[in-house]
Amino acid sequence: MVKAEGVHKSFGAAHILRGIDLEVAPREVFCLVGPSGSGKSTFLRCINHLEKINAGRLSVDGRLVGYRQKGDKLYELKDSEVAAQRRDIGMVFQRFNLFPHMTAIANVMEAPMQVKGETKAVARARAERLLDRVGLADKAGNYPSQLSGGQQQRVAIARALAMEPKLMLFDEPTSALDPELVGEVLDVMRGLAEEGMTMIVVTHEMGFAREVGDSLVFMDGGVVVESGNPRDVLTDPQHERTKAFLSKVL
Ligand code: ATP
Ligand code: MG
Repeated sequence: MVKAEGVHKSFGAAHILRGIDLEVAPREVFCLVGPSGSGKSTFLRCINHLEKINAGRLSVDGRLVGYRQKGDKLYELKDSEVAAQRRDIGMVFQRFNLFPHMTAIANVMEAPMQVKGETKAVARARAERLLDRVGLADKAGNYPSQLSGGQQQRVAIARALAMEPKLMLFDEPTSALDPELVGEVLDVMRGLAEEGMTMIVVTHEMGFAREVGDSLVFMDGGVVVESGNPRDVLTDPQHERTKAFLSKVL
């Protein structure tokens, strides 16, 4: 579903991604861990072309992200084509980025109506189903300020799902939450995984990675240091850098 080959990304002189190689299979729960500044968020942003890569190849569902290849040459996609690619990718961030002036259900209805031109009735029916699925059927009319952090994050997941993505990217979705609210968000993610959603999850929740993850990649300094089955990597890390990192977060 996602394939990265020698992906590089710099910001000015700062060389952040230094040749990322990885592959995420359909229906896989792919956990990405690593120290602060190692490039995890940058890599996620490259996947939906919020950042342009400087070298290498990155594809989602067999299509290059942001480019079209003709012969040996790459041509940038038009904005409308990039937007079409992004529609298939849902993203949930650390901070709940809900629209503050809209109710929970309006947040979930917004993109399908604006982007896909869906009717209000169709968008509402789906939004009701999705809010029910994340356990918030009774909060549909609440504004974000009237929801807990965990509830807001579950609305954010429902909102991403409303576009019926092929791939979900989670960037530390629980790290801004009070500890007692983490579980409810992880439960929703676990449910998604069980339904077969392909997910890339940046997280420090090693329990989740161990139980739900199919693969775990440890990234440091803009490269993949170590990868494998989460249980193997977490129990028996092979590299010093992985060991040092895990000793701090486990
Ligand atoms: P964290 O665990 O703290 O979220 P991360 O692994 O997600 O860290 P990134 O956010 O990808 O790390 O950042 C990697 C490096 O890239 C950092 O040094 C950061 O300052 C730099 N960086 C990220 N975005 C930009 C940008 N738009 N312009 C310049 N530098 C950037
Ligand atoms: Mg980050």
